[in-house]
Amino acid sequence: MMLIVFLGPPGAGKGTQAERLAELLAIPHLSTGEMLRKEMEVQSELGQRAAHFIQDGQLVPDDLIVDMVVQWLAADGTKGGAILDGFPRTVPQAESLDRALHEMSRQVDCVIQLTVDPDELRRRLLLRGRMDDNQDAIERRLVIYSRQTRPLVDFYRQHGLLERIDGMGTPEEVFERIKEAIRRRGFRERP
Ligand code: ADP
Repeated sequence: MMLIVFLGPPGAGKGTQAERLAELLAIPHLSTGEMLRKEMEVQSELGQRAAHFIQDGQLVPDDLIVDMVVQWLAADGTKGGAILDGFPRTVPQAESLDRALHEMSRQVDCVIQLTVDPDELRRRLLLRGRMDDNQDAIERRLVIYSRQTRPLVDFYRQHGLLERIDGMGTPEEVFERIKEAIRRRGFRERP
């Protein structure tokens, strides 16, 4: 069982790289942003509660997101390992995750931090052009990342779990760096 967390600002390429790594290791991955957007699409209660936070570029309240992720992790398909993209995003979320994993006799095994220059982040997000990728929401998300999510870098470094990866360059170049880190940590690839 291996549990890998992707950490990094919006636009760092977490989604792209998490998907590739999930394929390589043959384990499922969860993007909390994707999951929330699906909930919004079908206008579930959760989706309706989350919508205005997302459109504004704010974080969805911790309790909404924690339940969603813990339920996913408790499901059978993740027993052999899993990748989380976009969660945890705050220290309280990370603490809730640790508590929930502890009860399942599991733990976070590795945290991949993707670093990208702020100007490159803005460029990538404007290119992507999702409904929450407008100038105001982007600036708000970058500030929220610095204030609320960045502290997780130290949190996980103190736990000896952090792999800092340069996220500049092509997706292929970045993936090569991730593979190196994963191999160093002894994770097994799909046969
Ligand atoms: P990005 O990585 O570009 O910020 P995501 O798809 O990961 O995009 O997330 C989109 C939005 O979904 C976030 O701006 C936030 O409102 C909400 N969201 C996703 N994950 C979380 C989380 N763990 N906690 C709170 N809000 C979240």
